[in-house]
Amino acid sequence: MRISLKLSRIKPSATLAMNAKAQELKAQGVSVISLAVGEPDFPTPAHVKAAAVAALDADFTRYTPVPGIPELRDAVGGYFGRFYGVTPPREAVIVSNGGKQALFNLFTSLLNPGEEVLIPAPYWVSYPDMTILAGGVPVPVPTDPEDDFLVSVEALDKACSPNSRVLVLNSPSNPTGCCYTREQLDAIMEWAVSRNIFVISDEIYDQLVYAPSEPASCVGWWQKHPENVAVVNGLAKSFAMTGWRIGYCVAHPDLIKAQSKIQGQSTSNVCSFAQKGAVAALTGSYDCVAEMRAAFKRRRDLAMEVVSTWEGVRCPNPGGAFYLFPDVSARYNAATPDSTTLCTRILEEAKVALVPGAAFGDDRCVRFSYAVDDNTLLAALEAVGKVLKS
Ligand code: GLU
Repeated sequence: MRISLKLSRIKPSATLAMNAKAQELKAQGVSVISLAVGEPDFPTPAHVKAAAVAALDADFTRYTPVPGIPELRDAVGGYFGRFYGVTPPREAVIVSNGGKQALFNLFTSLLNPGEEVLIPAPYWVSYPDMTILAGGVPVPVPTDPEDDFLVSVEALDKACSPNSRVLVLNSPSNPTGCCYTREQLDAIMEWAVSRNIFVISDEIYDQLVYAPSEPASCVGWWQKHPENVAVVNGLAKSFAMTGWRIGYCVAHPDLIKAQSKIQGQSTSNVCSFAQKGAVAALTGSYDCVAEMRAAFKRRRDLAMEVVSTWEGVRCPNPGGAFYLFPDVSARYNAATPDSTTLCTRILEEAKVALVPGAAFGDDRCVRFSYAVDDNTLLAALEAVGKVLKS
């Protein structure tokens, strides 16, 4: 089979691949715990499901406008108004098939061949591959666990070139869970905007931030510099709606039109009745989100308590999301010299699926998703701890 050269440079999504591997083993009867994929274990809140069911019953099943139904675009504007005091107008909002499609749209809309994308590492697995698919060049900017894996202006300055076009920010971060403070974010935004570098701020975990950390959005920077900033978010993580595929982007209206062109030629609208569910989520009560946030915080604390007893393992205490990204390189040896071999060993011996840090651009680490119930989490950590000690 002849596949395009462009695709030969793209890797399959490691997070999805690892999850598929765990599911495959489960299907064979092997009792595997998957801490591989980043997916809330809670059901979608009842009022959100009810709104989608009502829309189906009312035959709301036809094409909708490509950038989303007007009430959902307005609800997205209202979301930012409610939490961050900035209400983007309808023409500055597009609804996409998950945050993933919004990101893909942005890279495709912004990049010319050879233009560079600064990606603080560790990074979410899909940023570099999306950059390559869009004809750009990913430039990872390394960070360290001692600095909570947060990138500094100095490191960005060093990595920047005349070809730098885009910087991707992701706070809270997947895979580290670490969050930038308002001040840190502002310093980076100032740096980028003054160099005319476009910032894509992926804020998909903004509802999952644990006190004393505080959510910090770039939507205020978008308001001040609409030609330099886009904010991406979605409902998958905050409302346990991964399968619904509801993401959105706030950007300059011209950039929204560009993204709409891509969607119009590829996927058309997001599922009609899913959009109605999304309106109910964004405009309804956030008590359900607060409950899930409290559960994730408790699990983070449980997991950190265990991981901090692992000798030689360094893991910053993450302020958000539902991942731990410990540096386990002190446990590497001749037989398990890297994160991939270690994760294979952990899967074989502990029957726990993790994602190797190499997939996120940091081979010293492995990623745990703690979006599972407390007992499963503790059992998985105990089993992994045994492998690491042996
Ligand atoms: N973003 C989640 C993760 O990192 C879901 C899987 C994916 O789309 O990569 O596990």
